[in-house]
Amino acid sequence: MAHVKVRGILLRLVKVKDSDAYLTLLTGELGLVEVYAKRLRTRTSKLWPKCQLFSFGDFILFENKGRYSLDDVDVVYAFQTLREDLFTLTAASQIAEMLIDQTHEPDEAELFYPLFIRYCYAVDQGKKDPLWLTYLSQMKIIDEAGYQPRLIGCAACGKSPSPVEPLYFDYNYGSILCDRDAKKGQEHYRSDIGPISYDLYRVLSYVEQSPVDKLFVVEGKDDLIAEFGFFIRHYLEVRLDKSYDKFETFRDFGF
Ligand SMILES: [Zn+2]
Repeated sequence: MAHVKVRGILLRLVKVKDSDAYLTLLTGELGLVEVYAKRLRTRTSKLWPKCQLFSFGDFILFENKGRYSLDDVDVVYAFQTLREDLFTLTAASQIAEMLIDQTHEPDEAELFYPLFIRYCYAVDQGKKDPLWLTYLSQMKIIDEAGYQPRLIGCAACGKSPSPVEPLYFDYNYGSILCDRDAKKGQEHYRSDIGPISYDLYRVLSYVEQSPVDKLFVVEGKDDLIAEFGFFIRHYLEVRLDKSYDKFETFRDFGF
């Protein structure tokens, strides 16, 4: 039994009984941690205002036989701007859901934790399109979770992609195809092959190679953001058999 202090960000709260809660924290040191917070959701609770979605801080936990309960929180940053905008709140929630699903190993948490903190700061600052930041993050997470697409050359003939020739992506196999082999593939087997632009191909390659601290340096214009959005929704659905699409409602309104 001991007290531990761990820096992390609050990704989820699940209500228990009338006033207790289970918190899911993403931390660099302990990975994803479930923390029991007794009487958190009461009017007199001093911790309740500090335990908002995406509260980033030092969490003082009491550990007993591998179970954690919450003792105190020192908030480092609350990401107020991010949380007050429904659109950016939705974007961050989409990443949080992916992180909860995809963080299994300590080395994943070591990468996902700084990625998510950087993502939240970037969205909170509002200098770049939150959708662009979201798609870059989703791609990095999926790469690191072991679903990295094969981007070196056409999966059938090995030919390197060129900006002047059409390029395709095979969603089932997670690989690129040249014009000729994409057409063959579409004829010969039940395939899920669609065109991708050379610009998107370059972004995918960039995400694969980029360290987390350089991930959001890359720029994207509106048409590339839209294409990236379509790509990532479809790719995640095929590879993970789960749809991560909290933006559907916004898209219906023309976002
Ligand atoms: Zn080929």
